[in-house]
Amino acid sequence: MKKFLAAIVALVVLTASVTAVLASSYVGNSTSRKFHYADCASARKMNQKNRVYFNSRDEAVKAGYVACKKCKP
Ligand SMILES: [Zn+2]
Repeated sequence: MKKFLAAIVALVVLTASVTAVLASSYVGNSTSRKFHYADCASARKMNQKNRVYFNSRDEAVKAGYVACKKCKP
């Protein structure tokens, strides 16, 4: 029974972390200070080390990022 509960807890934690990653629909570039929709061509070309993830547009704007002129997030 304890093993069963541990498995359930592990599954819930895993689901929550996967959801958190998927919810990050905005990607900022720490060099250019611009942010994009995660599926914008510029966002996909962005160097992995310059990527900053945001959960909302507000979060990106508050962090001082400017919206991309192509994908207009
Ligand atoms: Zn963009």
